[in-house]
Amino acid sequence: MKYEKIRTTVLQAIQEAVEKGLINGTSGNIAMRDEEDPRVIAITPSGISYAGMTPEDIAVVKMQEDGTNLWIEGNYKYSSELPMHAAVMRQRTDVNATVHTHSMYATICAMGETPELLPITPPQCEFTPVGIVDFTMPGSDQVAEKVVKALNKKGRVCLIKNHGMFSCGKNMKAAMHATIYTEEMAQTTVIARMLGTYEPMPEEAIKAMKALIEADQAV
Ligand SMILES: [Zn+2]
Repeated sequence: MKYEKIRTTVLQAIQEAVEKGLINGTSGNIAMRDEEDPRVIAITPSGISYAGMTPEDIAVVKMQEDGTNLWIEGNYKYSSELPMHAAVMRQRTDVNATVHTHSMYATICAMGETPELLPITPPQCEFTPVGIVDFTMPGSDQVAEKVVKALNKKGRVCLIKNHGMFSCGKNMKAAMHATIYTEEMAQTTVIARMLGTYEPMPEEAIKAMKALIEADQAV
């Protein structure tokens, strides 16, 4: 099977996301860039149940120079949300894995007039600031453009209003961590706000923690 490594990585990641309750039904999608050919990405297929899925079912797409994406492998067509994943991969050469979920708490935290997600615990600092994208039709080039803009040069996560979140990382582990910790940050935020005890980390502590994380990553 062609591109076995990235297709297996995508399959394992989507199964982990389902197990962790980050994905329900056929919502959410995950993509991974090929090590040998950075223009090639593996991505979950459109509208197929993730239970019983095999690596052959994971679609493979080539990002063409003219800006289009060509479906080259896989039993089923790529996710309808391919434009978001491909746009981020094209713009960010440091990103090799992308995860999009409709996780409940992240979706709740994207609502309101001025949504803002702040770290409650130190490990969450790595994924902030969390960008915000207004509601835009799923699968459109417009939402892809807005996600690219919200992530900008270094962003790891953005929330998409009335839809979910989009995370990225240098590898699948990093992209999954961004998703898991952002959902955790959102869940603790929602519950603490309900209890009336909401108290995110102090700004200075967030800065210090981010500096520590960046120094560690630079080594
Ligand atoms: Zn979606």
